[in-house]
Amino acid sequence: MINVDKLKKDFPIFERKINNLPLTYLDSGATSQKPQQVLDAMNMIYTNSNANVHRGTYVLSAETTEAYENVRNKCKEFINAPSSDEIIFTRGTTDGYNLLAKALTSKRLDPGDEILLSEIEHHANIIPWQLVAKEHDLKIKYVDVDDTYELNLEDLSKKLSKKTKIVSLTGESNISGTIPNIKKINSLVRESSDAIFIIDGAQLVPHRAVDVQDMGIDFITFSGHKMLGPTGIGVVWGKRELLDELEPVSGGGDMIEEVYFDSAKWAPVPHKFEAGTPPYVEAIGLGAAIDYLNNLGMDNVENHSDQLRNYGIKLLEQIKDLNIIHSRADQAGSTFSLYMEGVHATDLSVMLDTYGVAVRAGHHCVQPFHRKLGVDATFRATCYVYNQESDLDNLKDSIEKSLEILV
Ligand code: PMP
Repeated sequence: MINVDKLKKDFPIFERKINNLPLTYLDSGATSQKPQQVLDAMNMIYTNSNANVHRGTYVLSAETTEAYENVRNKCKEFINAPSSDEIIFTRGTTDGYNLLAKALTSKRLDPGDEILLSEIEHHANIIPWQLVAKEHDLKIKYVDVDDTYELNLEDLSKKLSKKTKIVSLTGESNISGTIPNIKKINSLVRESSDAIFIIDGAQLVPHRAVDVQDMGIDFITFSGHKMLGPTGIGVVWGKRELLDELEPVSGGGDMIEEVYFDSAKWAPVPHKFEAGTPPYVEAIGLGAAIDYLNNLGMDNVENHSDQLRNYGIKLLEQIKDLNIIHSRADQAGSTFSLYMEGVHATDLSVMLDTYGVAVRAGHHCVQPFHRKLGVDATFRATCYVYNQESDLDNLKDSIEKSLEILV
């Protein structure tokens, strides 16, 4: 069990008042708030041991390098990867997908090959593929998402073939909370193709215990800022043999072993994918966030998310004419995208702000799926460890008060 009143004291932002009201923060799907422990860890580096990593022969650089590399190990354990050499630091999920799309395409894909995504993917898992598809004459297919917001696995099986070279799917949807059955999909992928299977972990990794070996996948990407850590840091995990095979997509310092005027030899993984000065302070902040989540226990984080989800559905269903985009499967995230005919999502979210309730309005970078639903914008409430039932009560009350004014 998470004691939210106690936990909230770790998050300085909750001392803020919005329009003289306490902050009801329901936008963790966009970014999470940060505990003092993360802020302190980063501040500590800048004030106490700041020096560039992997370069110095002096105490400060050695300390920073050790702290930075130690986070690789924390990430490895957090997702149960076999080795910390398989943890590549990136700027976030989007950056991770751009790396994977370029590196995999140039090594593994030929014109006419297919990439299989789903209709509910975030743009971070669409656009990088569109960019390489255009350049290399690849075909992108999308698995149908049904009207309960689940991936249609029959359709997935139908669209898989020997031509499918990449399957990349959300681990937890940022609009409906849908959590696909990754293990089952993994066996379908292996049965009918030699595709590389990638999971978008941007929402999954912050909310559920993840075991990449148990899931059987080849790669996962995630972002530090959605899991209590800072912006500017993320992770790609990949199987060692695949990472060894791929070429780097960014060149510069720190990613080489030998450089000549006309050629170079890459450093081993993970460094060959980390050109230039890495965001080491942000990585150390991510390490503190992982410690914080481990102290809470990922099982507790998951249970807390489930409790808020169940409470949220029951509550929001009481609001007349409110459409709720949310998975009803046994497992789903505490993410609700909402809309009401005749009321614009932005107007409603601006009204909610006047009651101190922060939600996001728009297409949440999932525009094709909104288009499929025939809805141009929704407003979205997403919960995390510092939320409690009273936040959802505030949401419901504020929606009702706003509707009295808007409708
Ligand atoms: N995938 C999903 C499911 C997301 O929710 C997000 C962030 N909204 C991303 C990818 C992209 O993450 P980032 O902006 O941190 O790169």
